[in-house]
Amino acid sequence: MTAGRSPRSGYPSRAAKPMDGPAVVPPHPSRVDLHTHSRRSDGVLEPADLVSAAAAVGVRVLALADHDTLEGVRELCGANAPSLPLELVPAVEINTVAPDIADLWEGELHILGLGVDPGDDAFEAMLERQRQARSSRFQLIVERLRSLGMPVDAHVGAIRSGPGSSLGRPQVARLLVQAGHAPSVDATMQGILARGKAAYIPRQGVGPQDAIGAVRAAGGLPVLAHFADAPDRRDVVAELVAAGLGGLEVHYRHFDAPTVARMADLARELKLVPTGGSDYHGDGETYAEAHRSLFVPDDDAIELFSFLGRAAAVPSM
Ligand SMILES: [Zn+2]
Ligand SMILES: [Zn+2]
Repeated sequence: MTAGRSPRSGYPSRAAKPMDGPAVVPPHPSRVDLHTHSRRSDGVLEPADLVSAAAAVGVRVLALADHDTLEGVRELCGANAPSLPLELVPAVEINTVAPDIADLWEGELHILGLGVDPGDDAFEAMLERQRQARSSRFQLIVERLRSLGMPVDAHVGAIRSGPGSSLGRPQVARLLVQAGHAPSVDATMQGILARGKAAYIPRQGVGPQDAIGAVRAAGGLPVLAHFADAPDRRDVVAELVAAGLGGLEVHYRHFDAPTVARMADLARELKLVPTGGSDYHGDGETYAEAHRSLFVPDDDAIELFSFLGRAAAVPSM
C-alpha cells in the first residue's frame, strides 16, 4: 500500500492508505491536539512557538510528541520554564520497526507515548538508543545522496542536532530542497527518500511491543498512531493490545470521515482510549492552517487524563 496523502495538507499523511472519502468537517475549532512535532525532531517550529501558535487558535490541551525525544517537553516544563498558555501533555512518537508484520507502510508502526514521565531514566535510555539509530541512518542517507550526485553536505550545518534532538527524513528532504536538488519536501518524501527508492535506507530500532512496554513503564498511554488499516488488520491490533496497547488514534487530521467512524467503532470495541491530533510538522502550512481541518473531541482529552490519573487543569473539561 502507498502512503496516504490528504488533499487538505501539504504534508504526507503517514496514513496507511489514500483517503478518498468525505473530509471531516470540524463542528467547532478543536481545543485538543494530541500529536504535534517541533524542531527538536522533524518539525519546523521551536517548541515555545508551537505552543503559542496552538494557543492562539484556541487549543487548550496539546501533546508535543517529537520523534524519540522529550527534549522539547523538558524545555517547556523545566524548572525555569515560563508558565504555559495551555495544558501540555509530555509525549513522544516512536517509529517502531515491524519486519514480521506483512504489508505495513514502510514496515513501520508508529506508537505514541502520551503522558510519559520526562524524568524516567530507563525510558530516556531507550530513546537515546533510538536517536543514535536515527543519526546513523541520517549519515547513511547523506552518503547515498553524495554517491547519487545530489550532495547536501554544505547544508547539514543548518539542522539543529544538539544533544537530545533527533534526526529524520523530513530534515534530509529539506536539505535536498535547499541544495536545489528537489522542488519540495513532499515530492522528496514520496520520491527518492521513500521506501525502495534510490536514497532509502531501512530504519533500525525498537519493535512495537517493546515500545508499548517502555511507554507503560514510563507511566504513559501507548497509542497506535494513524493506522488507517486497523479495522481491517485486527490480528495486528490484537497482538499490540496483548502487549499493552491502550489507545488508538481515531481523530487523526488526515483521516476522512468514514475512516474516523470505523476507527471510533474499533476503539470502543477494544476498550482503547480514542485520541487524535494534527501530526503537525510545519512544511508548507502554518499551525493555524493545519488546525482548520483538525477535530479532536474534548472527550479524547478527558479519557486520556482519566487514564493518566490526572485532572485536566482546563476549566470546563
Ligand atoms: Zn507517525
Ligand atoms: Zn507524527
